[in-house]
Amino acid sequence: MAGPSEKPALKILLCSPRGFCAGVVRAIESVERALEIYGPPVYVRHEIVHNRYVVESLRAKGAIFVEELDEVPDTSAPVIFSAHGVPRSVPEAAAKRHLFALDATCPLVTKVHREAEIHHRRGYEIVLIGHAGHPEVIGTMGQLPAGAVTLVETLVGAEKFNPRDAKKLAYVTQTTLSVHDTAEIVDRLKARFPGIVGPYKEDICYATTNRQEAVKRVAPIVDAMIVVGAPNSSNSQRLKEVAERAGCPHATLVQRAADIDWSEFSAIARLGITAGASAPEVLVEEIIDAFAQKYAVSVETISAAAEGVFFPLPRPLRESQAAE
Ligand code: SF4
Repeated sequence: MAGPSEKPALKILLCSPRGFCAGVVRAIESVERALEIYGPPVYVRHEIVHNRYVVESLRAKGAIFVEELDEVPDTSAPVIFSAHGVPRSVPEAAAKRHLFALDATCPLVTKVHREAEIHHRRGYEIVLIGHAGHPEVIGTMGQLPAGAVTLVETLVGAEKFNPRDAKKLAYVTQTTLSVHDTAEIVDRLKARFPGIVGPYKEDICYATTNRQEAVKRVAPIVDAMIVVGAPNSSNSQRLKEVAERAGCPHATLVQRAADIDWSEFSAIARLGITAGASAPEVLVEEIIDAFAQKYAVSVETISAAAEGVFFPLPRPLRESQAAE
């Protein structure tokens, strides 16, 4: 037991993998590289990744964030599309205005766009499993004409969905969903429409799957779990839900150490920490340091998968690199 002046012991179990995925690294590097090559300003449509710290750091270097293209003046400066992907109308509008567009859409999101396109070309009606309003969902639905894609968000939605022709049906999914919830929705759709066509390889990406798997291992053996991530980050929200489902008595999203509500962590001996795919490791370190001020901390990493995925930068940025 800790003496009056001693700090109580706290074991931190760090989930691995956690934090940045290959798509996020590529998107952030795209902005940084564009700033180096072309100089500021560089316009970025939507938060390049859903993390305030990342956005503020890039803003300090000369990136200007806008929500829509019409906020960008007529300029020769680059305009970068975020990792979440954009509806077709966005690059079309950029081309019409002769803007210099750089697409930082994650290649694994582009894969889903192409799948949807192929299904559509073959005459299939498409179900997109995802969350309404998320930029990735808006981007995927916007690859095809209105009415070609129906969004299904829940099991109830899968139950209620009425296709035009059950024999000409396909599904795709958002990349950052809960593996468990999506499997339930897919099973329901398959039970109702046995002929429904799915992706050749899972649309939920490797990074989402691996981060959820690591949380499943840690959550049942800790008193509380911190997910470092933003409230508008889909994959961070899912990590919190996965921790709760795996039996963690208290799981919470935290953006920075300053946001920690210490009353939630007053009587814990074991704490799990993970980070969403858009949260930088420096924020994980900041949070561990904050706990180390109050506890005698020991850290152990629990690993669920090794990752070595890398995506090259968008072509114009690669070519400039080669020319140096
Ligand atoms: S979470 Fe997955 S799909 Fe999204 S940017 Fe990262 S690797 Fe790409």
